[in-house]
Amino acid sequence: MSDVAVQNELNVYESAEARFELAARRLGLEQGIYKYLKYPSKEITVYIPAAMDDGRIEVFIGYRVLHSSVRGPGKGGIRFSPDVTLDEIRALAAWMTWKCAVVNIPFGGAKGGVICDPSKLSPLVLERITRRYTAELSEWLGPERDVPAPDIGTNDQTMAWVMDTYSMHVRQATTAVVTGKPLDLGGSRGRREATGRGCLMVANKALAVLGIKPQDCRVVVQGFGNVGSFAALLMHQSGYKIVGLADIHGGLYNEKGFDVPAVYDWVYQNRKPLPNFPGGGAKLASQEILFQPCEVLVPAAIENQITSQNAHRLQARILLEGANGPTTSVADTILDQKGVFVIPDILANAGGVTVSYFEWVQDRQGFFWRESEVNERLQDVMDSSFDEIMRYAGAHRVSNRIAAYMVAIDRVARALKLRGIYA
Ligand code: NAD
Repeated sequence: MSDVAVQNELNVYESAEARFELAARRLGLEQGIYKYLKYPSKEITVYIPAAMDDGRIEVFIGYRVLHSSVRGPGKGGIRFSPDVTLDEIRALAAWMTWKCAVVNIPFGGAKGGVICDPSKLSPLVLERITRRYTAELSEWLGPERDVPAPDIGTNDQTMAWVMDTYSMHVRQATTAVVTGKPLDLGGSRGRREATGRGCLMVANKALAVLGIKPQDCRVVVQGFGNVGSFAALLMHQSGYKIVGLADIHGGLYNEKGFDVPAVYDWVYQNRKPLPNFPGGGAKLASQEILFQPCEVLVPAAIENQITSQNAHRLQARILLEGANGPTTSVADTILDQKGVFVIPDILANAGGVTVSYFEWVQDRQGFFWRESEVNERLQDVMDSSFDEIMRYAGAHRVSNRIAAYMVAIDRVARALKLRGIYA
């Protein structure tokens, strides 16, 4: 399917562009609109000085990319990781535009990141980095401009610091400037589990399409952070058999299935490495877990895990992309040929941004919903988005991934035409 030349398969921006390119061609997108949507609308680099614990001053590099605000304010997480690059943030920002359009919520796309290793920094230094990063971006952020959220290496505490710093700058408490906040600061019930819950919802839909029962379904999850751990817990609770789990320290495979709540306690209460979990199973490298026998594979860790070098080894019937960009565009062709049922990232992990949207709505209303209400509304969005992408893929004879891109690009292009170009 991928007949767009890619120079460096592992450059996520190239992967994102290749899919955009294919979908734009299939849509027959006119040249001007194509150019408009291909490039981000703004890229900002900030140099963040921070006093370290020993009094030294370090300078960290941070980025914020606003890809599009055509359908609403920018929306997208902040990532703290030593591997952050501007190209990665660009790709993630574009994916956010398409993701918000796939689930039809009124946001554009953005993403931010700081090159740092949070596992090696004290909470005090992380707070300083977060506050200075936010202060440098204070003119660009805002409930109507650009609304960050957590991503790899950041969490609800980070979002609380962003909210406080922004509020100090604008001199009023502004909870809607970020989502993924603690409940006490205007967070939404259900946000913590939302991405994993969305994964479960689309897994249920895919199983119904393929005529498989959850109890006959073996699941492998790579990544045991926010997305992976909740996807595994909720799927376990729904009767799926979780046979493989992995995090950065390594993986475990057990045909008999794991007691996932016990693994969760092992990792998050006892603070022990996942591969040392005493519940049995074969120890494997983190990446090897992807190639074990299962019906559903959930890569929920980082990018570029499934590539042209290894896609032929996948044994899964369904690939449910919990992470952003776990599959390269070159690997798409191999998965298509193998007949793997792909639930693409911009649909599969959209539960997180959907409940972020609910959080933003609740903050602006000053009225908070019950968790059951949040989950019901999430179910409506995930079910109808899944159905729409499947219908579109069938009608236009394209893969699920390209269908998702086509639906999204078409929605953004329609909004752009209505708005026109301000000059
Ligand atoms: P996280 O930091 O909470 O967890 C990441 C997990 O991946 C950890 O368990 C870590 O040990 C593991 N990991 C890291 N490197 C690995 C490697 N090389 N091999 C195996 N495991 C590895 O992050 P998260 O929020 O769960 O995000 C995971 C992915 O999901 C990212 O791609 C993120 O962009 C995407 N995502 C997150 C959300 C959200 O709401 N948090 C929403 C949509 C998409």
